[in-house]
Amino acid sequence: MPGNRWTKSQIQSLVDQIVHLSKPLPEIDIPGKTRAAINNQRKRLQRAGVLNGSFAGRPVKPWTLPELRRLTAFTQDYGFSASFIAQMGLLPGRTKDSVSKMMGRHGVGNPAIKERARQACRLDSGRREEFQSFLLAEGRWLPSVLVARQWGLAQKTVTAYRRRLGIRLSWREGRSSDEYRRQQRKRAAAFVAHTRERWKQWRERKRLLWEKLRQQLAQDPERPPARVCQACGEAWYATREFFHVRMRRSPAGVRISYCRICRLCHAERRRNQAAASWANAAHA
Ligand SMILES: [Zn+2]
Repeated sequence: MPGNRWTKSQIQSLVDQIVHLSKPLPEIDIPGKTRAAINNQRKRLQRAGVLNGSFAGRPVKPWTLPELRRLTAFTQDYGFSASFIAQMGLLPGRTKDSVSKMMGRHGVGNPAIKERARQACRLDSGRREEFQSFLLAEGRWLPSVLVARQWGLAQKTVTAYRRRLGIRLSWREGRSSDEYRRQQRKRAAAFVAHTRERWKQWRERKRLLWEKLRQQLAQDPERPPARVCQACGEAWYATREFFHVRMRRSPAGVRISYCRICRLCHAERRRNQAAASWANAAHA
């Protein structure tokens, strides 16, 4: 029952199960309390410091403004879906569910897709028959994406009809259609262009900061030794700001070494690799 107060013994039992028995949420049992209620109480206790750090909780990362701006651009300018955004890692650390929830909360998302989802399952009996015979005949090998667009239905609905009719397209058949490939390529190209631009801006900002830091360090008598990046040839300094650090344990102790290339070049390499794999994924 919602709103039912927690008794002292229930709370004691909860603390016991978390602190002494180290139980994860699904295993915690408090008679008369739902899992959601237990989860909420656990959060309150954790905030109150009762759990001695036994349960740190999953930190809720609030959405930042830049993230929201990117989300808006992805959904409205490119028409990306929540699952596409998550799959491509366009908003690092955000799952499909959290992206989709945020899209709902901010009313973003492709209006056509949303409308289609609303209209889904609204085939009256006449149209339903028409639709079924279409699926059995000329629409037989058309990918569900296209059928959905043509009939103003959600793709899910089309798939469901196909399943019921026993004419489900295999994953390969649906995917291998030219139209599907063309769409994927278009999306990937738009995405690559977008991220390339963002990346360029990020890199320029970072570089300006680095220049400043380099000037400051040049005047510092206790500055770290200079270190030349093997990729861009810039003389930065051997510090964590400019170079990734590797620590190696050896019998002689811990040895610290700096990466051969600066963080900017490192990031660029990783980015290029990622871009190559996106391109591969889109053309596969
Ligand atoms: Zn470099």
